[in-house]
Amino acid sequence: MRQWLESLRIPKKLWLFHLVTALTSGLVAAGIMLLTVWHIARGNAEADAGVKAAIIADNILPSLQFRDPEVAAEILKGLSRDKNVLDARVIEADGQVFAEFVPNNAGSRLRQSGSNVIRTSIPLLDERINVGRVELVTSLDNVYRETGFYTLAIAVAMLVSLLVGSGLMMLLQRSITVPLTRLTQLMKRVSERNDYTQRTEVSTSDELGELGLSFNHMLEQIQERDTALGHELNERLRAEEQLAHLAHHDPVTGLPNRHYFRKCTQELERVQGASGNPPALLFIDLDNFKFVNDSFGHDCGDQLLTIVADRLLSAVRSNDEVVRFGGDEFVVLLLNIRETAIALQLAEKIRLVLTQPLMLNSKEFVVTCSIGVAVAPMHGRTADELLQNADAAMYHAKSGGKNGVKLWENAMTGQSTLRFSMESDLRHAIERNELEIHYQPIVELSNRRMVGMEALLRWKHPELGFISPVEFIPVAEDSGLILGIGEWVMQMAFHQVAEWSREYGPLFIAVNVSARQFRSADFVTRTRELAVISGLAPDQIELELTESMVMGHTGEAVRIMQELVDSGFGLSLDDFGTGYSSLSYLKRFPLDKLKIDRSFVSDLPDDPESVAIAKAIVGLAATLGMRVVAEGIETPEQADLLLGQECRYGQGYFFSRPLPADRLPAFILSNRAA
Ligand code: C2E
Ligand code: MG
Ligand code: MG
Repeated sequence: MRQWLESLRIPKKLWLFHLVTALTSGLVAAGIMLLTVWHIARGNAEADAGVKAAIIADNILPSLQFRDPEVAAEILKGLSRDKNVLDARVIEADGQVFAEFVPNNAGSRLRQSGSNVIRTSIPLLDERINVGRVELVTSLDNVYRETGFYTLAIAVAMLVSLLVGSGLMMLLQRSITVPLTRLTQLMKRVSERNDYTQRTEVSTSDELGELGLSFNHMLEQIQERDTALGHELNERLRAEEQLAHLAHHDPVTGLPNRHYFRKCTQELERVQGASGNPPALLFIDLDNFKFVNDSFGHDCGDQLLTIVADRLLSAVRSNDEVVRFGGDEFVVLLLNIRETAIALQLAEKIRLVLTQPLMLNSKEFVVTCSIGVAVAPMHGRTADELLQNADAAMYHAKSGGKNGVKLWENAMTGQSTLRFSMESDLRHAIERNELEIHYQPIVELSNRRMVGMEALLRWKHPELGFISPVEFIPVAEDSGLILGIGEWVMQMAFHQVAEWSREYGPLFIAVNVSARQFRSADFVTRTRELAVISGLAPDQIELELTESMVMGHTGEAVRIMQELVDSGFGLSLDDFGTGYSSLSYLKRFPLDKLKIDRSFVSDLPDDPESVAIAKAIVGLAATLGMRVVAEGIETPEQADLLLGQECRYGQGYFFSRPLPADRLPAFILSNRAA
């Protein structure tokens, strides 16, 4: 019942409440009215019966006094016109019935009525003496009829008022149900369409009006929050996009970066696209970027990278990908390459475009690059394979003299993987004590007396055994590990030679300096510090530089060299003759020594050309006020010839191989003794 009631719609419920309350109050009112009517009618009937009995008593007393029952009966018979009279009798004082009137069928009516009749008894007094009484029995039919009539009237009145009330109710309830219906419909619409711009109409100031206002207010707040949320969401989406862009693009050149490349080339098939022709991958490494960056600052380096990126983009087709892969490494993914020759042509075109002179800080530069090429599917089926092989080819181009294009060949794989593992092994070489310094004596050729030595780095790899510095120094250089390693060499060698100098008299130490080390910002300061710590005098320290380190960027190199010279260090030019060997630059550098490269010494004394070169170098050095050291002297003939050419110092297996520190004192002693 309760559930049924709760399931009813509000208009029905209101109508039901109205019906129940109206009926209940109507029935109660009708009951009270009917009872009242009943009482009044019954009272009236009783009074009426009393009056009748009194009249009969007055009239009948003489007949009792004269004991004439017939007269009495005649009087009683007069009651026959009153349909309500059921029985009328005169009873004497002793209880004897003196006269009686019973109308036709009165007996059955009496029985029907039972006790539901009015019994009236009036005493008959003769001179105040009770001589008998008149008893009248009247039916209540009239009372019932009257009450029945009223009941009918009340029922009709109730029905009419109920109908009118219901009609009114219907009209009045609308003021409640209409706003409620509006509100529920609005709620439905809002929740279905998530449209918080809608509002309900508020026409009253009652609770429903308040409800409508509150609801509208709530919608307003939700709408505000919704727009704010939308705003926030948009902001977040924008931030996410920005982040994704940053994560996948290089901020300097705006080119996609290696993460982007990895992401979009995970499946080479996807890269291949609809054309069906395989892609080719070019791995481009700038040859002299580190120099620009280190000596002219990062701004200049960035400028250079941007120019390179622009040139690369202008050299490829719009659907090819240009990626900045790392510091000065770029990757170009050429799509739809029909044959290897085309990839090589494009690589060559790129190389030429990049090597066009460019202006940085109003100075003209030429940037060269080494390019490795790998073409799918011959040189790799996945982007990773192509990348690895193009990288290996690039290293080949680099070691083959830079500024060139190389196509990948099978034989290159071993080298590139070796390079990668070497780099990571080298990282731990110092801490694992795998690096060692050997010392090769340098002698005065005239008396073969040892005057100093060159520190030569050795790496004893736990698995591969001794690795030549020729192999690992370039790796250390490329990875930047050379900075730490170079400093370690200076520290150890200075310390060691200071000790020997104290013991055996002054000796100088020559250390090889790498290009990267030379251009690092604190090189001069660090060298000075290390010298001071070791206790070695600066003039006992000689720094070996190479031509390629100082060529092309003379101004900066001269500045650094001058600072070193001002600090008292000696400078020598290593491997002289293999590079540019130009007089004009030699003049500008504050060098003490030239070291003739081993390659010129090894053909002495039989090759006349080598003899001429050696002679020329020594002569050149003399005019510039530099001393000369000949490297790689292996025979006494070589030593003699060089001495004859006025070459002052010599170094080579003929005098001694590079020796581990523990074997050098013995050499010094025997050299002194000799
Ligand atoms: P370099 O500075 O020209 O060193 C001379 C090289 O010639 C050394 O090779 C030495 O062992 C070798 N050598 C000396 N005398 C003879 C000889 O009579 N015959 C032959 N065949 N070879 C001789 P090594 O030790 O293999 O070093 C190679 C290069 O590695 C060095 O050339 C130098 O450029 C570089 N290097 C060595 N140690 C260091 C270092 O501590 N730092 C840097 N940056 N480079 C280093
Ligand atoms: Mg050297
Ligand atoms: Mg050398």
